[in-house]
Amino acid sequence: MTRPSLPGLEEVLPYLERIWTSRTVTNNGPLVIELERQLAEYLEVPYISLFNNGTIALVAALQALDVQGEVITTPYSFVASTHALWWHRAEPVFVDIDPFTNNLDPQKIQDAITSRTTAILPVHVYGQPCDVYQIEQLSKTYDLKIIYDAAHAFGVKQRGTSILTHGDLSILSFHATKVFNTIEGGAIVSSSKELKEKIDRLRNFGFVDETTVVLPGINGKMNEIQASIGLLNLKSIDEEIQRRKEIYQLYQTLLQGVVGLRIMPLMEDVEYNYSYLPIFIEEDEFGASRDDLYYRLKNYEIYCRRYFYPLISTFAPYSSLPSSKRGNLKNAYKVAQQVICLPIYPELSNQMIEYICKCISE
Ligand SMILES: *Cc1c(COP(=O)(O)O)cnc(C)c1O
Repeated sequence: MTRPSLPGLEEVLPYLERIWTSRTVTNNGPLVIELERQLAEYLEVPYISLFNNGTIALVAALQALDVQGEVITTPYSFVASTHALWWHRAEPVFVDIDPFTNNLDPQKIQDAITSRTTAILPVHVYGQPCDVYQIEQLSKTYDLKIIYDAAHAFGVKQRGTSILTHGDLSILSFHATKVFNTIEGGAIVSSSKELKEKIDRLRNFGFVDETTVVLPGINGKMNEIQASIGLLNLKSIDEEIQRRKEIYQLYQTLLQGVVGLRIMPLMEDVEYNYSYLPIFIEEDEFGASRDDLYYRLKNYEIYCRRYFYPLISTFAPYSSLPSSKRGNLKNAYKVAQQVICLPIYPELSNQMIEYICKCISE
């Protein structure tokens, strides 16, 4: 579980006064423009377009690249990743994950490519980077567009470079439960001025000027109140991520010896944001199932999340797709049965973490 970080009310009020005085409350106002500038700098990305939420950003990204036909994606994600394909009338093709990174397995992506495949929609699950180098190779070999769902990967870097600079576009979510939030919000990271201009038009119904519409746009605009929360939260983001790192390390230490329990491995060359704390339960060794543990913790009023269970491919709109067959998604099925995300948020005390770990290992 994560909890929304909210700035102090006394910090928010001056922004609200400014918004009320200016009478500019939305439509690419000054605070949205300022937040775009600050985020591009903080994230070390060339261009960013803010959106009202991450799901609309995903749909707009598919529209911006005119994606058609089949799109390869992961069943092990939040359901919005696949819903975006559906709203765009692209055909989701599910591919199995690598059980260590929990992300799409590049070899299996390659095996699933057909003449109708036009794009790949991978997800950096829990902020763990996908194999961006192999995916880039596939995109070159087969001429495929790549849109990363980077909803979990705010601020994540690999080899000193932002993970958001890979692929054609990356999507962020700033929902209240994410590491960085604007209550509801999202963004598309792009690599050229032309692409950013197109995306900015798409989020505003496709208008170029008062009387000209050039694209089938949508209402994806972030408003000024959302942007002000973002500007305030950005001030403390480094401390928040630092505290999350300490929490992550404390959990690691305390859970180290527990038989049948493993924590997601971290890679040497990655700077993480510690947004989630997934653990995986091997039922036979642990002596209880994941669900046993989930409900036991609930009884102690420790609220965890089974992210991501059930798999997207099992939900009604997608369960009859050929790629949704269980045999095609063995690793994803296994991981979805094993995972629990433990509470992690900056206000969580060390004492509470010790208590949670005691309840897990008893
Ligand atoms: C949160 C999330 C989204 C959706 O973002 P919203 O801002 O809630 O619309 C999409 N994909 C993933 C992986 C997410 O976790």
